[in-house]
Amino acid sequence: MAGSTPPASGTCRLQLPDRVCFFRWGPRSVVAGLDGDLVCWDWSGRPWAGVWDGRSWRRSLAGAYLELSAPRRARILVPCSAEQGRRWDRRAQRLARDLQQVLGAARGPLAALAPGLEPMIRDRSGDGPAFSRVYQPISILPPDRYLSLVLQFSRGCPWNRCTFCHFYRDRDFRPLDRAAARAHMEAVIELLGPGISLRRGIFLADANALAAPPSRIEQWLDLIHQAFPDDAPGPRAQGIYSFTDLLTGGEQQPDFWRRLARGGLTGVYLGLETGDGELLERLGKPGPPDRAVEMVARIKQAGLRVGVILLAGFAGSLAAIHRRASLEVVGRLGLDRGDRVFVSPLVGAPDGVEILDPEGCREQARQVIEALRRECGQRAVLYDIRRFVY
Ligand code: SF4
Repeated sequence: MAGSTPPASGTCRLQLPDRVCFFRWGPRSVVAGLDGDLVCWDWSGRPWAGVWDGRSWRRSLAGAYLELSAPRRARILVPCSAEQGRRWDRRAQRLARDLQQVLGAARGPLAALAPGLEPMIRDRSGDGPAFSRVYQPISILPPDRYLSLVLQFSRGCPWNRCTFCHFYRDRDFRPLDRAAARAHMEAVIELLGPGISLRRGIFLADANALAAPPSRIEQWLDLIHQAFPDDAPGPRAQGIYSFTDLLTGGEQQPDFWRRLARGGLTGVYLGLETGDGELLERLGKPGPPDRAVEMVARIKQAGLRVGVILLAGFAGSLAAIHRRASLEVVGRLGLDRGDRVFVSPLVGAPDGVEILDPEGCREQARQVIEALRRECGQRAVLYDIRRFVY
């Protein structure tokens, strides 16, 4: 009965011309699985994750494919060639076309799903240019925020001098004014289209949006509330987050954090990196790490959640110094169940600081995670930046 309303979510098996397909749809995405292959689309028709021939992949909003590979047991995302990406796009389109035909011929409300698959059949070669018109590259997000809706209300990093970080060397720090932020947000919403339903939470990019003047941040939060009202489903329901740092965030008084919490900010992610002040200095990052204790107390008093990020992979005597000092500082932060610690293996050697090979960096991260659990009772997880995709 074409034209009837399909259920908001469901699962079924469909007989395609040459095989049986497991088909699942819900408010956030559409999934098809067959013979060990799997494709997940958002409702704008973008494939965003899947498996082809046993090869797991992710696809960025810009249309770039990355394959999950496991060199020496580290599961990281490795960019695929553009030609590979085009082949996989066409493969997903063919599958969507088959699905649409079978659904269209089905009886009952399933037939009403067929028109909804039209975007999955469309040519996706415009995804890259469309992304570049709206965003500068999204360099990194915290690992539990990879599916956020990113609003790039500020660009770059106000510090931009840490020797281990090259994320924002291509741009200066620039907070957008209200008009530019509104235009950017509208462009993001248009770019995502119905695919916005996949997104959980909102992330204020880039490196430290909270370094902008407080009144500017409040304007941004206000814009978000207008676009995503309290009673409407949407990414805001899972909160609004941002990075912060010891230099700018450490100076902020309790009233700053309370204002942002009242404005709808849910939590912040602090790149502490190490608890050792001398090592932090050698990494070119402002401290001292002790400053985090009072800063995190102020943030938590405002009712905000905190994610703390540590590095891992220092060689020689630095390994023990880093571990001991980091555990000591994290133990004094007063973190609770709503907070998180992430341990991130170094990728690329910082100037003047000796680090381990990639496997050693990961092993040290595992050791720090285990020590945090054992000695501080603090749950921590691995944060491998080579798994990031937006
Ligand atoms: S680590 Fe953070 S503060 Fe340092 S340069 Fe990178 S983004 Fe900026």
